[in-house]
Amino acid sequence: MPDLLRVCALYPDLLNIYADRGNLLLLERRCAWRGIGFELSASGLGDDLDPDAHDLFYIGGGQDRDQRLCAQDLVEHKREGLAAAAARGAAVLAVCGGYQLLGASYELDAEVIPGTGLLDARTVRGSGERLTGNVAIEVDLPGTDGPRILAGFENHAGRTLLGPSATPLGRVVRGHGNDGASGVEGVILGNVVGTYLHGPLLPKNAWFADWLVQRALGLDAPLDPLDDALEDAAHAGALEAAGL
Ligand code: GLN
Repeated sequence: MPDLLRVCALYPDLLNIYADRGNLLLLERRCAWRGIGFELSASGLGDDLDPDAHDLFYIGGGQDRDQRLCAQDLVEHKREGLAAAAARGAAVLAVCGGYQLLGASYELDAEVIPGTGLLDARTVRGSGERLTGNVAIEVDLPGTDGPRILAGFENHAGRTLLGPSATPLGRVVRGHGNDGASGVEGVILGNVVGTYLHGPLLPKNAWFADWLVQRALGLDAPLDPLDDALEDAAHAGALEAAGL
């Protein structure tokens, strides 16, 4: 069992809405409870990104104006490092605004905010209403026992359209998902996951956090179980909120 999980949060001071920090806190706690060390670094504007220095990269959600600031920087300073990290199996979790920036672009009318192109997707902010509310999706993650439900909350104006090589993270059971029409949510590519689920996502779906850590550490077997009575109750509450 590796004794350290090295996490890098991208732009934690700019991309952090909807309690996305809770996702990082949960990772730290679950590592501590298992005796795994936890190292958290931040990579902000102007910082380059060392692809070998971290096991898991986290990008949270943000307002359009903060995304603009980060997008240019992401492309200039971090795109290659992030792609190299993903190629060697590091995990990447990108939520909402962060997810949008992993695609090819985020288009706001005539303005095109560049993305990393790591995922075969593009996002368009249409004139329709924001896609907001509790959401539940069915996912069947590699190496797991079969389909399970991820529950969370979404609030986005952008509609994410998947290209032909993109695999959705899941099927929408309740809520809007990528674009409110396709019936799919998020993208998964190896150990890279982009999703609209805030929530915060990981405290409401602790098993998913464990899956990410397992993948980030390159472990074949799932992590030892913990007493998840509180986390299971949070998951049940999130499902109820989504009308399930
Ligand atoms: N600004 C983006 C949108 O509205 C992302 C919002 C978010 O991260 N919640 O689509």
